[in-house]
Amino acid sequence: MSQSVTTNTNSELYARCGFYIDGRWIFPDDARCIDVVDPASEEVIGKIPLARKQDLDAAVAAAALAFADWRRSHAWDRAAILKRTAYLLRERAASHAGIFSLEQGKPGTEALREIGMAADHFEWAAEEATRLVGQIVPARPAGTVSVVEHQPVGVVAAFTPWNFPALQIAAKVAYALAAGCTIVLKPSEEAPGIAMLIVQALHDAGLPSGAINLIFGEPAEVSERWLASPEVKAMSFTGSTRVGKLLAPMAAASLKRATLELGGHAPVIVYPDFSPKEAVSLAAAVKFRNAGQACVSPSRFFVHKEILNDFTREMVAFAKSLKLGPGSDETTTMGPLVNRSRVDAAARLVKDALDRGAILECGGGQPADRNKGFFFEPTVLSNVAQDSLIMIEEPFAPIAPIVAFDDDDDVIGMANDVEYGLGGYVLCRDPVLAERAAEGLNVGMVGINNLALAGADTPFGGVKASGLGREGGPGALEEFLQKKMTKRAVTV
Ligand code: NAD
Repeated sequence: MSQSVTTNTNSELYARCGFYIDGRWIFPDDARCIDVVDPASEEVIGKIPLARKQDLDAAVAAAALAFADWRRSHAWDRAAILKRTAYLLRERAASHAGIFSLEQGKPGTEALREIGMAADHFEWAAEEATRLVGQIVPARPAGTVSVVEHQPVGVVAAFTPWNFPALQIAAKVAYALAAGCTIVLKPSEEAPGIAMLIVQALHDAGLPSGAINLIFGEPAEVSERWLASPEVKAMSFTGSTRVGKLLAPMAAASLKRATLELGGHAPVIVYPDFSPKEAVSLAAAVKFRNAGQACVSPSRFFVHKEILNDFTREMVAFAKSLKLGPGSDETTTMGPLVNRSRVDAAARLVKDALDRGAILECGGGQPADRNKGFFFEPTVLSNVAQDSLIMIEEPFAPIAPIVAFDDDDDVIGMANDVEYGLGGYVLCRDPVLAERAAEGLNVGMVGINNLALAGADTPFGGVKASGLGREGGPGALEEFLQKKMTKRAVTV
């Protein structure tokens, strides 16, 4: 069903909501506030409060109190609430998409699609909850029986970013709640409205008070306070590898469980038996989706030299066909970056690549026809040196660097030569070569002739500096569970 996107009462939403603690919305009168900015116009669209220490502690206290009952609730009852949440998100998708496309910048159609994917996670988590079975182990000595059951770990501190602000909240919250955990959540301050709306949907679906608590704040102050709290038993973070490496030792200091969904730098290897036109039609839309701000975005294109020129020409044509604009404009196919610092970071990567001999095929900076907004042109670079920063650092920008290869083994080494290992893609018609390449890529997820890796039904996550743990898929609740074994003498 196609839905049109409605905008935008962001400032009213922020003012009405603020924090959600123990089942109530609170906007403290004396809270420090920060502006929420529309990245397409640079205009302030509202204010949100920043948590004080007492707010952070109140959120944890509410989650700890609620855990006592929520952990004992019946899995079918938890599942019913999560399914109702999914239903409400789908029902409200059009207005929700308008709210967060305005604050985050993505086109309304992408925002709608993301809300659908978030709802998928709530449904998948609900179903996983009702299939969470334990084990009876034949025990020794005879006359004993060992029962293994799953128990929720406790209060989970969840930190989510701005690039897929609905999806990434769902990918944590749905599974933690399904497992019987309670949550303190700090979403990105750059896209606060969709977080409020998801929490409102959980509230309306009947989630008990305290089971989820939402605050905004200075990120480092929040994580330091929550990760030092003995009441918090697990952390789940999605964001940069830099911040993940800061938070992991803080969680480890008090032996908290940690799930880390960090950066990626996905290679795409295009073999000469794959039509360059088809390769671009598969890869380019994913490359420029969300203006390249996705952790599984294809971000290094290794193209066989036999098809290099054709591939580059097609990629340039696609990049030039994109229409930049605000997410609320139905004709927009690529929105702005989320903030000024992302624009500066993209410009720095392009300059460095050009300094090292790359050829600027198109784009390369802020569009000349826009003097407002954090827009960056869809950019294609060819002849990119392997030691360029853009081949090392995650670009998180609409930049497609293209590198030629001619040796099937060398290209796997080049593709693996980064600290990241999240996604990777192989475009190849020869099934043996394709399997060999996929097997050689040191990543958590590979697409063979397919660039759609994310979905609630499969595990999402990486290896190396891309993180620890998985979100979604069969067994997704395990991130939030611990095993308890009870051994009984059955004959005394
Ligand atoms: P950043 O690392 O400053 O922030 C990313 C997110 O982490 C933000 O939502 C922020 O609120 C949160 N954060 C930052 N410091 C924190 C702290 N001390 N405690 C708790 N949370 C904290 O990055 P950025 O400049 O906003 O984004 C650019 C980089 O972030 C990209 O290069 C990319 O690697 C990464 N990123 C990755 C994802 C992902 O899906 N894996 C999402 C967003 C950003």
